[in-house]
Amino acid sequence: MADLSDLARRHLWMHFTRLGSFADAEVPIITRGEGCYVYDRHGNRYLDGLSGLFTVQAGHGRAELAEAAARQSEQLGYFPVWSFAHEPAITLAARLAHLAPGDLNRVFLTPTGGDAVESAIKFSRQYWKLMGRPTKHKVMSRYLSYHGTSMGALSLTGVPAIKQPFEPLVPGAVKVQTPYRYRCNDCMHLDGCTLRCADDLALRIEMEGPDTVAAVFMEPVQNTGGAFTPPDGYWARVREICDEYDVLLVSDEVIAAFGRFGEMFGSIRYGYQPDLITFAKGVTSGYAPLGGMIVSDRLAEPFLTETDVFLQGQTFGAHPVSCAVANANLDLFEREDLCGNVRRNEASFKRLIEDLLDIPLVGDVRGDGYFLALELVPDKDKPDDHFTRDAGEDLLRNFLSLRLLEAGLVCRTDDRGDPVVQLSPPLVAGETEFDFIETTLRTCLTEAWKRMR
Ligand code: PLP
Repeated sequence: MADLSDLARRHLWMHFTRLGSFADAEVPIITRGEGCYVYDRHGNRYLDGLSGLFTVQAGHGRAELAEAAARQSEQLGYFPVWSFAHEPAITLAARLAHLAPGDLNRVFLTPTGGDAVESAIKFSRQYWKLMGRPTKHKVMSRYLSYHGTSMGALSLTGVPAIKQPFEPLVPGAVKVQTPYRYRCNDCMHLDGCTLRCADDLALRIEMEGPDTVAAVFMEPVQNTGGAFTPPDGYWARVREICDEYDVLLVSDEVIAAFGRFGEMFGSIRYGYQPDLITFAKGVTSGYAPLGGMIVSDRLAEPFLTETDVFLQGQTFGAHPVSCAVANANLDLFEREDLCGNVRRNEASFKRLIEDLLDIPLVGDVRGDGYFLALELVPDKDKPDDHFTRDAGEDLLRNFLSLRLLEAGLVCRTDDRGDPVVQLSPPLVAGETEFDFIETTLRTCLTEAWKRMR
């Protein structure tokens, strides 16, 4: 039998991965997980500081989630929700409607987060057609944001480098500013944000023509670029602009929902009422693939007639096994008060990571809840300086990501914007895990700084 790493190198196309970088290196093969930790095939233990991919809220190795999947597979392993329904999907939809803010009561379940976003794009277009305003078709989102990889979702995504190989994309996807106070020309030297980043939405809507804009997609806290939290008043202003111009506000909570910010939905944490929420990842803590969108009663209304149909569906949408796992996961959230755990611990987590600001390489620490990012800078005394593409790449790919893994910490080093280290531990993490994250980052970032000098 060939070695697993050799087989992976030969046959497995790993996602968003430079396959060539494994030409002479072993592929890391993770074999099991327990709580906040995962183990590779050599028995090495790693702290999963990213919850897999912002997903494993309840931690690894939870038998109750595996048992829920097994029970459901035995009873009804698969059936579609095309003109039928099944108990796990109905129960889940009702529970999500109850948990979601305001009148968001209608739940459309998809296999993944990208499918949820794609569905929301299609929904917003069809909605305005049904409302007799067919020219409202454009969708807006923020620079540097990530919303998925299918052609519609990719058009919303605001990271030029991952879009260019696939252009031309879906037309009518317009970008607006991101609240990025650390590097903002308007407010970096002021006490507070001017909210010009929020006003940019109104400006772009005016420039495109309000009658052409269907919806704006934003994350409660933007991930790509490094945990861009909303400044005071930001969401109130965005909501006001959407109301003024009749533009649907889609809160893309694929990362933010299910406790990441200490509430079941990010919009609850930041106090705004979306028209539609997209979610995925944490709904099952990653034990089965599932995503979806939750639509307000007002928006669902035109689809409730005898003849009008939301023309969207997937074979694996609302998969019964995934829905059963999601229900068991929501039970676990309640039983163990995972949101409460985040609320109780988030301040100490942030304080600890902010201590790393004494390392010259660390320019900024941002984020809330169990979702933080450190922005790395070449010279803290010159905040306008950026790493060049090559220097950033050398720092992250040739040193930091390898060194962190060697030291036993899985986290994300990302240079889709300026270089950042992203942290998003399972929601069961506490002081022991935070201490390990801080000491490991301190060692590796200090070494990285010395290497640069
Ligand atoms: N939207 C956001 C905000 C995301 O972070 C992601 C993935 O990370 C997606 C959409 C796409 O989700 P998926 O990878 O499940 O397709």
